[in-house]
Amino acid sequence: MSFDPRDPYDAAALYDIWLNCHGCPETFDFEPGRPIGLDYYHDIGQKAKAEGWLVVEQEDPEDEEGVSYLVLCANCARRYGLSDVSPGHTEQPPQVINEICQAVRSAERERTVA
Ligand SMILES: [Zn+2]
Repeated sequence: MSFDPRDPYDAAALYDIWLNCHGCPETFDFEPGRPIGLDYYHDIGQKAKAEGWLVVEQEDPEDEEGVSYLVLCANCARRYGLSDVSPGHTEQPPQVINEICQAVRSAERERTVA
């Protein structure tokens, strides 16, 4: 499995660099020192999903990118009664996610070449 921009968990990890709970100071445990790249964001997203974190894509007219992510750790998702929400996949990844995704990909390619 590799990075999937339609998976809100992967997309949110990419967008936020890593996952910060919006309900408490919890930050999803990431692996410092690991090279940043799409695989890294994918792993963060999928590990968070496996541990019960909730990530939901939301349209955000206030945000100039037009998208934001609601991120909650497993405890907060339970606290807000949202632990049963199933975010699923989006049909079309938000434009901004595609753009970041492409930027990271080309950065990775340059690093491989250099
Ligand atoms: Zn939390």
